[in-house]
Amino acid sequence: MNLKRVQYRFYGVVQGVGFRPFLYRLAVQNGLAGFVQNRPEGVTVEVEGPAPVVDAFALRVREELPPLSNITRIESAMLDIRNDQVFQIIPSDDQGRADVHIPPDAATCPDCLAELFDPSNRRYRYPFINCTNCGPRLTIINTVPYDRANTSMACFDLCPECSKEYENPADRRFHAEPNACPVCGPHLTLLNRDGASVTTDDPVQTAIDLLLSGQVLAIKGLGGFHLCVDAANDEAVRILRARKYREEKPLAVMVRDIAQARQIAVISQEEETMLISPQRPIALLKKNDSRRISESVAPGVTNLGIMLPYTPLHHLLLEKHFKALVMTSANQVDEPICIGNREALTRLSGIADYFLMHNRDILVRCDDSIAFSASGKTRLMRRSRGFVPQPLPLKQSYTTVLALGAELKTTQCIVKNNFAFISPHIGDLETPQGRDFFSESLALMKRITQTDPSILACDLHPAYFSTQAARELKAERIIQVQHHHAHIVSCMAENQIDGDVIGLAMDGTGYGPDGTAWGGEFLIASETSFQRFGHLQYLVLPGGEKAVREPWRIAASLLKSAYGPSWREIAGRFNLIPEKVQMDLLDRMLEGKIASPLSSGLGRLFDGVAALAGLRHRVSFEGQAAMELEALATTTSAPPYPFDILRKDGEPYRVDTDFAIRAMVDDLTAGRDKAMIAASFHMTLIDIFAAMAGEMRKSTGLNRVVLSGGCFQNRILLEGGIDRLTKDGFDVYSHSLIPTNDGGISLGQAIIAAAMTKNGII
Ligand code: ZN
Ligand code: ZN
Ligand code: FE
Repeated sequence: MNLKRVQYRFYGVVQGVGFRPFLYRLAVQNGLAGFVQNRPEGVTVEVEGPAPVVDAFALRVREELPPLSNITRIESAMLDIRNDQVFQIIPSDDQGRADVHIPPDAATCPDCLAELFDPSNRRYRYPFINCTNCGPRLTIINTVPYDRANTSMACFDLCPECSKEYENPADRRFHAEPNACPVCGPHLTLLNRDGASVTTDDPVQTAIDLLLSGQVLAIKGLGGFHLCVDAANDEAVRILRARKYREEKPLAVMVRDIAQARQIAVISQEEETMLISPQRPIALLKKNDSRRISESVAPGVTNLGIMLPYTPLHHLLLEKHFKALVMTSANQVDEPICIGNREALTRLSGIADYFLMHNRDILVRCDDSIAFSASGKTRLMRRSRGFVPQPLPLKQSYTTVLALGAELKTTQCIVKNNFAFISPHIGDLETPQGRDFFSESLALMKRITQTDPSILACDLHPAYFSTQAARELKAERIIQVQHHHAHIVSCMAENQIDGDVIGLAMDGTGYGPDGTAWGGEFLIASETSFQRFGHLQYLVLPGGEKAVREPWRIAASLLKSAYGPSWREIAGRFNLIPEKVQMDLLDRMLEGKIASPLSSGLGRLFDGVAALAGLRHRVSFEGQAAMELEALATTTSAPPYPFDILRKDGEPYRVDTDFAIRAMVDDLTAGRDKAMIAASFHMTLIDIFAAMAGEMRKSTGLNRVVLSGGCFQNRILLEGGIDRLTKDGFDVYSHSLIPTNDGGISLGQAIIAAAMTKNGII
């Protein structure tokens, strides 16, 4: 018989995901001999047997990979026959540097779920059931390699039964590091607001009873605590909002299953796939009008953030009761999520009535990820639990670089070889807690990538905390990257393209090299440089930061720009400005540009237009006005407003939006339907994108358009932009895995710094 021996080396996420038992079973089933072994760089398997069987084995490996594995590369080699008689798992080779990727956390798998609700199973209703296909990973890891001893499970000794599973290659729990059972594993406790434990035989049932009676619970999850109330209980939702100082920002809910999700939202096939994926992000879905849950969960917007249970505890809580549970990150406004038991008791004091916690420590803060679907693709708006620390494969290999991100929604990124490792969502760096999390995350990223980069990248903004942090870290070289350049390159990296592109960077604000706030930018960009081809017309922001919170100020500024001195009459007609004194003051501010910085940000234009349309004069969170304007625009068949593109020699093109504002004012005066006005505004922007991309193609010959920046979270702009530009013959690239908002900035910064270093530019 024609015998054959082949070696395969697998790279990527291949350890801690049941890869060895998978190969073992496959080899044994096919009667092949050889071995499988964990190595520092991945997993190596050698099989020998009849040639056709070995070939069939290779095919099946690729087709039947364990669900949580993620192979980045396979190498194979033909070897001489060694006449092995059996197939075995041989001890790990731990020599050398670890290059194995740590797996992200994964939702409870169907097998474990079946056991959870099987009264004859020894883990019946055990809230910490898991296996090699599911359970905590990153969030319990202290350092690499990923072995139980390096996780927060180290303090739980396996009982004989768990130990048997752990040692048996044929078992689903072979080397499942968080393996546990009621005998040997972690346990729940229920505490009251004073930190005293509540006497109960069944903490889950008591927690359910408390939720049913309208109490606010802090519940320890995978990557942090949630604050939880019954979503159908209007009073409970309002109490939670009041205590959390979260007036109107939408709250996410968790429902038992897809059927329950369908009762509160409209769900496409693709959105269903997103919801049931092992990553279990919060999916932004269109609310239906069932009114099964409290209106206060997501007031004023059309979308609702929904997720399905992803820990055994969630499944138990939602088993019989509740139409939905509000599950929002446990924190005060703008602070990072709580992870420690004592931390929760302190930081959530005054918010939570009870605490459902346990003694398995969370070692890595990891918020829920958030995704939406547009133009047939899933788009992550926040990439955290379930995705991190899975690296993004890059088109080429780079020297090691650490990028520190921006200021809001921030992340960090380490580029190493041909991978980009992006940190969990850190969030805003304006509070001491946020800054602590920043340092915590930095240490984590270095640990899991086993690097200490000497090249740093950060934003151009001198006052960002991350920029200051870059200066304080000892680095050979610090490369400051313009914000919108970073946006465009993050999208290029994700799409594995390089060379020159047309970049449309549309967001709220980013520091320009000229010291003004940029934000509606048309860039000719590459990995190493950019040119500002054009931008949206600058707006005066009367009061600066204040204008962001009080969009009526921006509306006034838009009117003044469009009408000159007669703006006051129109502002009066629309009741835009609360009092006459304020109008005088504002006029002087606009006139003398006192305390009134300039911004070309599209986000600010959205705010102003929303205020003009009478949507709201104040916002309680950034982007609120824009979200409501999007929600209002229920049609896409509205005529765009006029605009102009102005060109002065030696200066970037300027998109003049005064025409659009005047046309809109005419519509408002004529009492035209506001849904149509909001739609017309969106269509105007899509027209502007197409016109500017056309100008850029004419002048450069480039045909690839890259869309990035927070404004592309707006589904009408994203889908409309992609549609129109594709019709105009452009190759259009947008974000999917990497957030289009500032969560993607660190990736762009890292690639730019790495590419500049590689090309010897600095
Ligand atoms: Zn499982
Ligand atoms: Zn056990
Ligand atoms: Fe940005």
